[in-house]
Amino acid sequence: MNYKDLADLIFPNAKPILYYEEKYPERKLEEGAIVTRFAPSPTGFVHLGSLYQVVIARKMAKQTNGVFFLRVEDTDQKREVENGVTGIINSLKDFGLTPDEGMTSEIEEIGDYGPYKQSLRKDIYQAYAKYLIEQGKAYPCFCSTEELDEMRQKQENAKIRPGYYGVWAHCRNLTVEEAIEKIKVGEPYIIRLKSPGREDKKIRHHDIIKGNVEFPENDQDIVIIKADGLPTYHFAHAVDDHLMHTTHVIRGDEWLSSIPLHLQLFQMLGFKTPKYAHISPIMKEDNGGKRKLSKRKDPEAAVSYYTEEGIPKEAVVEYLMNIANSNFESWRKANPNALLDDFDLQLNKMSVSGALFDIIKILDISKNVISKFTAEEVYNEAYNWAKTYDAELLKLLDDKEYALKILGIERGNAKPRKDISKWSDLKNAIIYMYDEEFLNNNELEYGKINEHEEIKKILKLYLQKYFDINDEKQAWFDKIKDLSEELGYAREVKMFKQEPEKWPGHVGDVSTVLRVSLTGRQNTPDLYEIMQVLGKESIEKRIRKIVK
Ligand code: GLU
Repeated sequence: MNYKDLADLIFPNAKPILYYEEKYPERKLEEGAIVTRFAPSPTGFVHLGSLYQVVIARKMAKQTNGVFFLRVEDTDQKREVENGVTGIINSLKDFGLTPDEGMTSEIEEIGDYGPYKQSLRKDIYQAYAKYLIEQGKAYPCFCSTEELDEMRQKQENAKIRPGYYGVWAHCRNLTVEEAIEKIKVGEPYIIRLKSPGREDKKIRHHDIIKGNVEFPENDQDIVIIKADGLPTYHFAHAVDDHLMHTTHVIRGDEWLSSIPLHLQLFQMLGFKTPKYAHISPIMKEDNGGKRKLSKRKDPEAAVSYYTEEGIPKEAVVEYLMNIANSNFESWRKANPNALLDDFDLQLNKMSVSGALFDIIKILDISKNVISKFTAEEVYNEAYNWAKTYDAELLKLLDDKEYALKILGIERGNAKPRKDISKWSDLKNAIIYMYDEEFLNNNELEYGKINEHEEIKKILKLYLQKYFDINDEKQAWFDKIKDLSEELGYAREVKMFKQEPEKWPGHVGDVSTVLRVSLTGRQNTPDLYEIMQVLGKESIEKRIRKIVK
């Protein structure tokens, strides 16, 4: 009896690997095209760090005319969550990061290299496991959980390296006959790799992000096929990324220490190894120290947070590019209107230690992103957001024509308004433009000129003598200057500054009276534009209410 007999007994129906090698031929892509993937477990939850990996992987594929695909790694069925795949797909969609290939729903997929869900690839893994058994590179292991626990205990007590290796790898020494006999009598088993590695030897490896790394060789006879017939992550990674022709494995650096094992697996299977780029996690400042952004402690760790707050996807993606390459920021300054696609992202420029998470920076980017939106874009995005998250805002947006006028204030010019960083800010930013809301609000807080009689005097005179809705901006402002002068205020701020004791205030203070009376705020976008949108009737109503 030989290894082949053993392999046939274990996997009688597995196809020869040649079948799969031919079924999944080399991709026809141009030289240098990057094929890469996002390979989450279907837990439904997407961490900002995962989105970061997706942004980077997808961009690398895009800028080389390659392929970015989504593979669902569901071999650990304990971790599975109902509709977990949908949750992930929707999150990617929310951020405009739809993959080129892979799962498109719980059950559907696109692409020629599938199935893209590991639990549907059982036959494939078994074919490759059989191939290894045939060559004596993998073997069945009959050790029970109790035996393994006992072994671990002994190793712990003796303070030696834990694991199934060397003298501890009991089943690697069984003869083919012994193994066949055990299988025939129905002893349960799993399949282990017969690692040829030695712990006292080192391997050197070049990681695109981390640079040159050195590790001891892998000598653990790791499990490749579990008792349920499904592969472990490590084995599935090698088989899948080989058959799907992944050129670059871009993933979190928690996997960096698995490199010796992964390289060994690729080698034992006769596969060409992909390139690896291990991304450092996003960090957060905590009590003067740094720690990983945590799903448990930080609401901002979940990508759903950004959707719920109404931070536009473009801003989140732009932020992630910002922390990916430090030269992004200067590129953006030089090319304020360029598309993200035009930036040349480089994996080898990514930081080896993790980037520090900064919500202020995200909101700042978001402000700029929103400032470049047209009124129509702001309207559509905000409306969609409000449908789920803000019924009051939705009501305000009901009159689309009026809303577009409001949203058009200080937009589309060289210095657009930048007071909105997320859709959850919007209601507060526009609410005073609505008479029903504004006229019910009686508490106005004025600036330097705050005496009631004086305010009334200013407003009365303005309405009687100076207000004309048809004025151009310059005429409008000249009239406020005239009004100021008539009431004894300095008509220019400069004049006032030269001799402040001469006047009770200046044109700016008078404007503030008008601004607060019309909006309830001391700071707003351009008052002239606001008045144009409010219109004659609303302005008169607002002023008369105070003057009365
Ligand atoms: N399913 C693995 C994970 O958790 C994928 C790692 C990889 O990208 O190779 O994250």
